[in-house]
Amino acid sequence: MSDTPVAAAPRAAPQHAPMPQFAVSDGQLVIGGERLALLAERVGQTPFYAYDRSLLRQRVAGLRAVLPASIKLHYAMKANPMPAVVGLMAGLVDGIDVASAGELKVALDAGADPAEISFAGPGKREIELRQAVASRVLVNVESLREATLLAGISQQLGLPARVAVRVNPDFELKGSGMKMGGGPKQFGIDVELVPEMMARIQSGGLAFEGFHLFAGSQNLKAESICEAQQKSYALALRLAEACPQPVRFLNLGGGFGIPYFPGEQRLDLAPIADNLAGLAERARAELPEASLVIELGRYFVGEAGVYVTRIVDRKRSRGQVYLVTDGGLNHHLSASGNFGQVVRKNYPVTIGNKADASEREVVSVVGPLCTPLDLLADRMSLPVADVGDLVVVYQSGAYGASASPQAFLGHPPCVEVLV
Ligand SMILES: *Cc1c(COP(=O)(O)O)cnc(C)c1O
Repeated sequence: MSDTPVAAAPRAAPQHAPMPQFAVSDGQLVIGGERLALLAERVGQTPFYAYDRSLLRQRVAGLRAVLPASIKLHYAMKANPMPAVVGLMAGLVDGIDVASAGELKVALDAGADPAEISFAGPGKREIELRQAVASRVLVNVESLREATLLAGISQQLGLPARVAVRVNPDFELKGSGMKMGGGPKQFGIDVELVPEMMARIQSGGLAFEGFHLFAGSQNLKAESICEAQQKSYALALRLAEACPQPVRFLNLGGGFGIPYFPGEQRLDLAPIADNLAGLAERARAELPEASLVIELGRYFVGEAGVYVTRIVDRKRSRGQVYLVTDGGLNHHLSASGNFGQVVRKNYPVTIGNKADASEREVVSVVGPLCTPLDLLADRMSLPVADVGDLVVVYQSGAYGASASPQAFLGHPPCVEVLV
């Protein structure tokens, strides 16, 4: 080995993936068929989130066009629980996954069919389990305690609880933004405990329907998703052989990601579609009564939404330009980099009323909160902007308003519109 340093080849800085989902008209992004400035007038305030109906429809249709028809699509509504969004999604997908009694109420109010609602999450309270049984939704059981409680509730209500066993698999979803299976986890029960759980379900008179496996979230690598689906299927098949009743429901998880940060590319669906087609074919023979389900949150809604905030000040500090906006991490914790990111990176951002301006400059966009964490864009090249212009954060349809500390610092709440 020589000590001579090797000159690194100059490499272009990684760029954000293109964001073609919103057209630009007269320099303005078009969202829900309306130019941004007029949309802001219609909303009556900034900051706001806008979710585009036609993009939500296109997203579901696009997925259905490539996936085998027998695969059921569930919407994991924690990604965006706005009632109007859940109402729209309930009419587009095959089922809704809820993670609390609060979400269950929104899903039922939205008209989702209880037969196609499933309820997952660690630490379900007894009252939530009662509500779930009374609603006749499927409970993804995550502990022996839940199974025991459900047995008592079933007896009291004269209604056998519908259950699927959420299994913490013995593998991980590689390359996931958030791992939710494999190793020690608070989610589901370890594979090793499944026999005991099955016995509890039998003795409690619960209506066993199948298994739920969810390995992780925000994955952009098709091969990792395929591998997790294969392993989940194989595991479920192994577990099914020891089941007294046939498996009627097999939720293989999701984890489909969307590109947020420089260098990330959209997920390639083709290998996933092929993989699921193979599994669906096998299931027809090996698990003939089972519906195969995948559950997706951000993949359905993330790209269809924007966060819009107005510039209230333009400042320069020691050469660096700051655009100060009327909202920030209080409404959009994820874009500030404080929701599960290890190293802060910029979301794709633009000046939504000057989107095609050729004059650009490097600026930082910060919110109004008195903390350096309130950062929406760190030294990004954006169209030159001033007070009154509208900053748009793309990829904001998931884990936005509901995942942000709106009360923090006492600024007004944001508004959400479905357009
Ligand atoms: C959060 C969650 C989802 C949705 O994850 P996304 O990354 O938004 O697709 C799906 N299933 C379960 C069990 C979850 O906890």
